[in-house]
Amino acid sequence: MSKRPMSEIGPMLECDVPPVMPVLPLMSTVVFPLGVTSIQIRLEQSKALLRDYADPDDLIALVYSPAKREQDLDQAELSRTGLAARVIRILNMPGENMQVTLEGLRRIGIEEMQRTVPYFEARVSCPIEVGADPARVDLLAGRILQSLKTIAQLDDSYPSELENIFSMNLGDPGLFADTVASIVRLPVETKQRVIETLDIGERLAVVADALDSEAARLNVAEDVTRRATAQVEKSQREFFLRQQLTEIRRLLGEEDPQETTVRQILDRADVLGLPQHVLAVIYEEVNRLRYLSPSSQESGVVRNYLDWLLALPWTRQVPQAIDLDEVTRRLDAEHFGLEKVKERILEYLAVLKLKKDLKGPILCFAGPPGTGKTSLGSSIARAMGREFVQVSVGGVRDEAEVRGHRRTYIGSRPGKIVRSLRDLRSVNPVFMIDEIDKLGHDAQGDPAAALLEVLDHEQNANFVDHYVEIPYDLSETLFITTANVLDFIPAPLLDRMEIIQIPGYMEEEKIEIAKRHLIPREAREHGLAEGDITLDDAALTKVIREYSREAGVRQLERAIQTFCRKCARQRTQGFEGQWNFGVDDVERLLGPPYLLPEMAEGHAEIGVATGLAWTTTGGDLLLIEAIKMRGAGRVILTGQLGDVMKESVQAAHSYVRARAELLGMDPGIFDNCDLHIHFPEGAVPKDGPSAGITIVMAIASALAEAPIRNDVAMTGEVTLRGKVLAVGGLKEKIMAAYRAGIRTVVYPFDNRKDLVEVPESIRAKMELVPVAAVDEVFRYAFVGVAERIAELEARAAAREARRGAKAGRAKKRTPRAAKAKR
Ligand code: ADP
Repeated sequence: MSKRPMSEIGPMLECDVPPVMPVLPLMSTVVFPLGVTSIQIRLEQSKALLRDYADPDDLIALVYSPAKREQDLDQAELSRTGLAARVIRILNMPGENMQVTLEGLRRIGIEEMQRTVPYFEARVSCPIEVGADPARVDLLAGRILQSLKTIAQLDDSYPSELENIFSMNLGDPGLFADTVASIVRLPVETKQRVIETLDIGERLAVVADALDSEAARLNVAEDVTRRATAQVEKSQREFFLRQQLTEIRRLLGEEDPQETTVRQILDRADVLGLPQHVLAVIYEEVNRLRYLSPSSQESGVVRNYLDWLLALPWTRQVPQAIDLDEVTRRLDAEHFGLEKVKERILEYLAVLKLKKDLKGPILCFAGPPGTGKTSLGSSIARAMGREFVQVSVGGVRDEAEVRGHRRTYIGSRPGKIVRSLRDLRSVNPVFMIDEIDKLGHDAQGDPAAALLEVLDHEQNANFVDHYVEIPYDLSETLFITTANVLDFIPAPLLDRMEIIQIPGYMEEEKIEIAKRHLIPREAREHGLAEGDITLDDAALTKVIREYSREAGVRQLERAIQTFCRKCARQRTQGFEGQWNFGVDDVERLLGPPYLLPEMAEGHAEIGVATGLAWTTTGGDLLLIEAIKMRGAGRVILTGQLGDVMKESVQAAHSYVRARAELLGMDPGIFDNCDLHIHFPEGAVPKDGPSAGITIVMAIASALAEAPIRNDVAMTGEVTLRGKVLAVGGLKEKIMAAYRAGIRTVVYPFDNRKDLVEVPESIRAKMELVPVAAVDEVFRYAFVGVAERIAELEARAAAREARRGAKAGRAKKRTPRAAKAKR
């Protein structure tokens, strides 16, 4: 047994510890010389040690272990420098723990572990401490005292005279460093470094550095606390002052402005007869508002939100039965023509009337701008006794634009749908969503998905806008969408819609619309009487042809407004009569025409082919010009062409080259001549493959020097082998040709199914020629070439027949020849 009574150790002299000592590992504490410390002991081996050394004055070695848990205790990791300590007292604690009180004596070196069970026992030595240069000691001690002062100021748990206590110990710098390290809260690793540092100057430096860090840490902590406290104090102060202000106001018989706002809000909410769940939210928000300063940002956010809740129509109205006679009457009264469209609308409404709910497809009016889509929608609304709202989703790329931003964002607001319902009186308006074909999407989510939810009658009874947060009932709303083209409507949306196509108007129709609707209405809106202004047919035709190029009547309407403004001015100058305008007045009032008639070429020309283009405003003519010049076979392109169109030109060029013989061209021409192909209206970007056959014609015409008929327009994509493929927008293109006075249109054979969309009256007046191959186009479009081609083809056919006959004879010979080979 290693236990030795004190008498054997003898008095404590220079190396006054026994040569072999029991070792008590310490994990979370470091004991310093002359410090008295109580430690809880849980480790079994330590308890065994203390049972053997339980007497007061027994000496043991305290050694630091970096292990954080008892099971990780590793003899090899134990520090080589420890502390001899005297056991002062041992207490058995509840739950088998022990508490030992120890007094640190002096540093010892652990030389060699001699035993590990039942506890560690080691041979120890007394290390020699290295003295320090007095000047360095002074400097470091000064730094330490300064830090102590700061620490005592920042942390109330230290006595304020901390530095004074220590300055008394300066006589023994090593002990001074130890005591400071033992009292100030430092990381245990730092404390252990102090124990291990035998060079006293170095030890002081370790302590000085540690205190600097501690002071800095306390500084930051203090700063954070100060700010937080200041904030709390400010709002407490504000609250207190506001209470006082309210009291003062009450005594003066005045009212707190915030309270006034709150009262106004509640009054409004009362008269609106809002549903219970909306009222509950309003009360909750109003209570928040009461405790906010009127000038604070948050108060503004809450007021804005309340404003929205109060402005939206929440109450259901008893839906009126749909009166189909009234709808018919209004549609007829307000719109000229459009018979098929009106019929489809009435059929749609008849189904709604019978079903008594709005479940089912959504109406979609598709057609070029200015064809009356919006005005049909608003007529339907008026006829049904409903309010009418309109919102455009063109260019919307962010889902939040449809569904709103959460209120946490500064400047957030509801999405487009809810925004347009503001200030309506009922939850069941006719709601027109425009430009559904121009929806975009990007990383911010897919607006089409949000729109789908709005339009879907299974889901829209509980539409949640991110800003409003309260589910909103859209199920009573009659949605109508509009689009210019169907091709770009997202497929899931298209699936749910009943499409009603509104084709563009013919000249005669436009004249009627102007006479019956636009002129009387605009006269009225300009403060004149309905019959005050008239334009005769010739004048209207001139306006339509030379001042508006469109499928609808929007530009025509604008021109009529110009007429009306001029008349209104004359009325104010004292003119009392009426205005009957003829064709000669048009230029005088509208200025020089800015559109040339669409049919630009008066006679057949070489190198100019008339194509047809599709644009968002309907169809248009697209003239393509080609000229050949002496050169080296280069092809020059101008007119802002997109990549697809450039490729079409190359394909067309190759095709013409391959058919040079048929067209009677000199094959050398491709190497000796340059070709310049220009697409007029050079500033307008153009793209797409549908000009294929027009380009082939322009090139062929220029190279073969064969004029192209000016009364034939054409459209169709071309493959390298000369097949003609289907194109989009055929109806608009044919209408454009018709408007321009062209009566023959060459179009792809595969597009025949689209002809039904072209009004019967137009089809009857035109020659519409389906073609499957480019060669057929040559026949229609080249002046005088048809006969030549027929002759060439007859010759080619004869050649083919001869070849066929030869092949037939060869076949008959084959069995013998085959036999011979075998
Ligand atoms: P869209 O919505 O298709 O762009 P609008 O409904 O705004 O077109 O129509 C433009 C103008 O033309 C409106 O003033 C409208 O009343 C008028 N309009 C269009 N088509 C007709 C028509 N068939 N009869 C009478 N007015 C029409």
